[in-house]
Amino acid sequence: MENGESKRMWLQKARKLLKSGQVDGFWRSFEQVANSPEYEKWLEDEFPERSSLFELDRRNFMKFMGAATLMASLAGCRRLPKEQIVPFVKQPEDSVPGVRKRYATSFVSQGAAMGLVVESREGRPMKVEGNPEHSGSLGSSDVFCQASLYDLYDPDRLKAVQRGRSTASWDQFWKEARAQLQVAKEKNGQGVVLLTESVVSPSYHAQIQKFLQAFPEAKWVAYDPLAPMNVLYGNDLLFDRKLNAVYDFRGADVILSVDSDFLYLGPGAVRYAREFSSRRAPQGTDASKLNRMFAIQCAPSVTSAAADEVLALKPTLVEPFLRTLAVRLGIPVAPGDTPPKSGEWIEKLAAQLQAARGRCVVVPGLHHRPMVHALAQAINVHLGNVGTTVRYTQPLDFAEDASADGVSGLQRAARQNPIDAVFILGGNPAYTLPGGSSLGRLLEAAPFTAHLTSHANETSELCRWELPLSHYLESWGDGLGYDGSKVLQQPLIAPLYHSFSEIEFIEGLLGSHRTAREVVKEVHGFAGVQGEDRFQAMLEKGVLPTSEFGSEPVEPNFEALELPPALPSGYELIVLPDPTVLDGRFANNPWLQELPKPMSSLTWDNAVYVGPAMAERIGAGTEDKVSISVQNRKEEAALFVMPGIPDETVVVHMGYGRKTGGMWVTSDGTRGFNASLLMNPASPGVGTRVAVVKLDGKMPLASVQVHHSMEGKDIVRSGTVAEFQAKPSLAPEYVHEGHFDSLYPEGEFEYDGHKWAMSIDLSLCIGCNACTIACQAENNIPSVGKTQVQRGREMHWIRVDRYYKGSPDAPEQTLFQPLPCMHCENAPCEPVCPVAATTHSKEGLNQMVYNRCVGTRYCSNNCPYKVRRFNYLNFADKTTDKLGRDAPTLRLLNNPDVTVRGRGVMEKCTFCVQRINSARIESKRTGAPLKDGDIVTACQQACPTQAIVFGDLSDPASRVTKLRSDPRSYGLLADLNTRPRTTYLAKVTNPSNTLSERGAS
Ligand code: SF4
Repeated sequence: MENGESKRMWLQKARKLLKSGQVDGFWRSFEQVANSPEYEKWLEDEFPERSSLFELDRRNFMKFMGAATLMASLAGCRRLPKEQIVPFVKQPEDSVPGVRKRYATSFVSQGAAMGLVVESREGRPMKVEGNPEHSGSLGSSDVFCQASLYDLYDPDRLKAVQRGRSTASWDQFWKEARAQLQVAKEKNGQGVVLLTESVVSPSYHAQIQKFLQAFPEAKWVAYDPLAPMNVLYGNDLLFDRKLNAVYDFRGADVILSVDSDFLYLGPGAVRYAREFSSRRAPQGTDASKLNRMFAIQCAPSVTSAAADEVLALKPTLVEPFLRTLAVRLGIPVAPGDTPPKSGEWIEKLAAQLQAARGRCVVVPGLHHRPMVHALAQAINVHLGNVGTTVRYTQPLDFAEDASADGVSGLQRAARQNPIDAVFILGGNPAYTLPGGSSLGRLLEAAPFTAHLTSHANETSELCRWELPLSHYLESWGDGLGYDGSKVLQQPLIAPLYHSFSEIEFIEGLLGSHRTAREVVKEVHGFAGVQGEDRFQAMLEKGVLPTSEFGSEPVEPNFEALELPPALPSGYELIVLPDPTVLDGRFANNPWLQELPKPMSSLTWDNAVYVGPAMAERIGAGTEDKVSISVQNRKEEAALFVMPGIPDETVVVHMGYGRKTGGMWVTSDGTRGFNASLLMNPASPGVGTRVAVVKLDGKMPLASVQVHHSMEGKDIVRSGTVAEFQAKPSLAPEYVHEGHFDSLYPEGEFEYDGHKWAMSIDLSLCIGCNACTIACQAENNIPSVGKTQVQRGREMHWIRVDRYYKGSPDAPEQTLFQPLPCMHCENAPCEPVCPVAATTHSKEGLNQMVYNRCVGTRYCSNNCPYKVRRFNYLNFADKTTDKLGRDAPTLRLLNNPDVTVRGRGVMEKCTFCVQRINSARIESKRTGAPLKDGDIVTACQQACPTQAIVFGDLSDPASRVTKLRSDPRSYGLLADLNTRPRTTYLAKVTNPSNTLSERGAS
């Protein structure tokens, strides 16, 4: 690793080169552009002909090789411990060993529920997928749904009731709690508080109401840092009612994202990604249906990366920008000052929006102030978009206010009337409340405090009782989807520990004995035996038909959109949920911790993100230690320089700097810093009066941006609509296509059956990483920890590379390229394996025989795509956890259809061969031949944009065959003559300067 001084030097050099136009095409990192020694080192590690190993003399080379051979043979002599297996004595009636079962259920995440289908094997949930019946999913999912499975088996879950740090029982708790409530009953519940997260479950809400009926003076307060409160407040400003906004991108020709990440975060993101991408790829040579997205970018995001035109703005300039645009469109709002250098952009945008009246949409970022939402919706109303691309519904959250105000109000009220009992259901408010919480004082003063929680955390530590909360796969429940659609939640497994769901817990507090299933049945009108059959039918689908919220009529009040007071100048702050651990709720989930964050490729940490210009101004580079202060709140953190962040803007993510919560939270000391402490409760997402100062020292990070770099020119192909129309292949001039002369005999592999292949459309890929984590869950891929990631040893079988084009301060394009094994016809890995552990199947799969692999890694060295992964340590050992404790539940996480690889073995993408085989077995069993679409790989299934297509090249009608003949189709580094079976479709962008050529304006 280099020190901060030289990192800054390389950053300066890279900026100079990029600005001078000496760098042609796409680039991955500042280090690559400047060709820094660090980047050279990564390349050396990837490409052995450049390696320092060649500087060894013959004697030393023989020494190393001898040692390696000895180690390999020792590994082969390992004695395995004796283990007994026990057969099923009484086989459960409906269980066939080895056969997957699928159940519909749902998962609440980020303020809305997502319908899921979860696969179960021998009674244990094993893989999460989207529910095709649910409008919020359409069969796809996101990284959070995929990774939620780990939390079920997490050995750090709270397993037993704790009373003041000693183990107690539920009976003891119920006895004390009911006694407390008995006393409270005499005061109608005065002094009793229920503190929950957002409540989007009708049954949970019904239980809360039942509790409040029993204790009318009790207080219900909701606080949820992920709740989209600014949407409700903004619509309240404009329409005088708290309303939810639901978008429909299918009919949107022009989209303006106002620093919104609607493709990745927030309610409806999976659905929105599908709708948006349905108009991103040309059909053959026809590009007339493509939509166009403009993005204002304060913080680079998955959504702004997908935009055709991007304008980087400081956060407080967003509102003046929208005001100027609104006035330009003829909306009677108070005009603001036009932000510098944005006049031309606004003119162009206004013309585009006006030309697409009723067929355009403006989407504000969830973290922006309510006024930004009100202005954005005012533009939507004015342009006639209501009812076509946007509609308004009642709020999803039954609490209607999950901001920090509720807790502050509680704290104020407690000064007049003391609080006797606090029941906290889920969440971790002591950690997530903005600006540092005084919740501790409130909890300390209350005689009875209890926290129902999945993990012991910062909040439960402040409570007298810590109570185990059931996982959603252990509980009955329900939820509202992004559009209000009702989804059911059914358990797939009995609680692994003695835990309760929120619905059961409230039932317990009331001393009644209905099961959560009965509650859910009753709430949805299926009560009793008479409703059982209908309830069963609903459970099969998981979604209640036509249950989405209807549209609410709106009347805008433009006069309410007054000018705010002038804001101070200087540095500004954006605080966002972390792209992997959100508000810290997934902090103990190694799948998410190790998943590279889409825009930084950072793993295991958060950082203070700034753009290159600001980094130069504060004289610091990536990994330099800095202090960041906002008014009187201050934290220390590592700096990370990210292209595209506007000058004088700092971006930070919540979810780190936690003190407790499990082994992955604290195993290497504290991870990152707590960005919630920097938030202003009145405006949590955007802060002003920010200072960033370089300190001495470094804070090493684990970013994978330069790992597994490929060398070659034609890696990602992209072009505008005009370029596509001029040359549909978008191939650069220097590419030699159709060159297939080979040293290997042609036709060596004869395919008389299937020829499996994959196609990935770069026009559709948004870089969300759902494919990476779905592959991890399906294929028993281990997490390796921060230290191993820093050494480049991460194990993901499909990585998502990110490329930039243009200036580092404002890249004109950001492009993602998912990279699994290419399954080459002329696979360079195959002939170099000394033990034939990597071979070619008769269906064209490049396969690994794990038992044969002796770990020479020649295959990986010879792979130009760098998609092979080596188990340097026993990463897959799940007998114990990272701290050496016995962790039997982790073993339940493994997919029994996929081999668990031990130390010293090479592994890589298999095209989900287990899925191919189970479809083949099913086809044999039923006698129906395999047809296109019967086999769906894990990455393909999760992908919300359907960028990945898998199928059989022997079938001329298969989608993958057709995509191979698409003019945009190309093989990665095909000039090496590897003849990859995974191919790509070039990305087509649609910036506005091509409009007239398409005649769309
Ligand atoms: S290919 Fe992967 S990264 Fe790209 S959109 Fe699909 S799931 Fe997301």
